[in-house]
Amino acid sequence: MSTGADSALVVQKYGGSSVSTAEKIRSIARKICDRARTGDRLVVTVSAMGDSTDDLIRLANAATGPDISPPLREMDTLLSTGELVSSTLMAMAIHSLQQDAVSLSGQQAGIRTNAIHGSARIASIDTARINRELDAGRIVIVAGFQGLDDTGDVTTLGRGASDTTAVALAAALSAERCEIYTDVDGIYTTDPRIVPGARKLSEIGYEEMLEMASLGAKMNPRSIELAAVYEVPVLVASTFDDVPGTLIHGGEPTMELRRAVTGIAIDKNVAKITVRGVEDRPGVAGGILQPLADDGISVDVIVQNTSDDGTTDFTFTVGEADAQRALSAVERQGNVQFREVAQGGELAKVSIVGTGMQNGPGYASTMFTALAGAGVNIDMITTSEIRITCIVQRSDVSAAANALHDAFELDRTE
Ligand code: ASP
Ligand code: MG
Repeated sequence: MSTGADSALVVQKYGGSSVSTAEKIRSIARKICDRARTGDRLVVTVSAMGDSTDDLIRLANAATGPDISPPLREMDTLLSTGELVSSTLMAMAIHSLQQDAVSLSGQQAGIRTNAIHGSARIASIDTARINRELDAGRIVIVAGFQGLDDTGDVTTLGRGASDTTAVALAAALSAERCEIYTDVDGIYTTDPRIVPGARKLSEIGYEEMLEMASLGAKMNPRSIELAAVYEVPVLVASTFDDVPGTLIHGGEPTMELRRAVTGIAIDKNVAKITVRGVEDRPGVAGGILQPLADDGISVDVIVQNTSDDGTTDFTFTVGEADAQRALSAVERQGNVQFREVAQGGELAKVSIVGTGMQNGPGYASTMFTALAGAGVNIDMITTSEIRITCIVQRSDVSAAANALHDAFELDRTE
């Protein structure tokens, strides 16, 4: 194997469904060995096998009984073992194919984090050990989703965060690029299960991808954020099908990036909280939302009406799973007087996303006209520089997404 200075350093990541059985691990090991023979230096991050992280969570809850949640420190050490299983098995499989490989836990790989168990953030990566192993001609397999805090305790980075490990490693190692292999073969213009004409994009910008990711496309938004900051090109591609994936990058807009609207993001798990008859004075919005922030609930779309008789209505959306907690947080807070608060569910968010929109007029009206033509009522509207979002009834998602895909001609290549 060549380890010459001109060989590319690449970080790869394989997701849980790609490494769910020993057979799959062996077949990925073969691909990794083939790639290493081309001369590329490889650091490979893996997720835990299949749903094994969920199994570990179930075990923890069974051990503590229904009324007591497991201590977070113990939980993190437990959950980190899922990725130790897959990374060690991967190293063994590669060994069996006559290639030298070494598995490293997050700690051994030099990944330091803050001390927020369950959703730790990476503070730094000391790459000395990884570089030593690479220099010795080894393929380095790093357990995803974990690190070590300043007290020497194992932390985990949050669900789905092996992507974050991979991008962080690519940044710290100044890798040529990060390759995320998964059970989808790239990023599509929208969800192909909802819009049959959805098309795979050959490339997408970081900001667009960030909008698509946080609005439902399959990719951990934190990892995209990190990739954007450190300008790490990220390829998302299929683990087992040898077809071109999607390159997420920040280069000059070419080809598809020139399109005004790149994709339609869909999030079907939206609920809204409407607070009526809110006194209209400075501090009201903060007063209502602070208790939610304290509870770790993220608020998304916020709409406040202009005041009528000194009172106003204040509506915001949260993820469906947080709706009940958000409602009680508003009821509990004593900061702000209001007449009534109600929760509405069964909503969805449909957004058109594209960097090209920021300097062109008419996208909003095209969007609204298309939705009207499909008989879709808009409940709330919000925009950013590169996105226009409508909150609609969940039952209207398919009609809305299909109408928008047509209106913006997203099935067209070029
Ligand atoms: N195994 C972890 C999880 O299931 C991390 C990951 O898969 O990225 O959330
Ligand atoms: Mg997983």
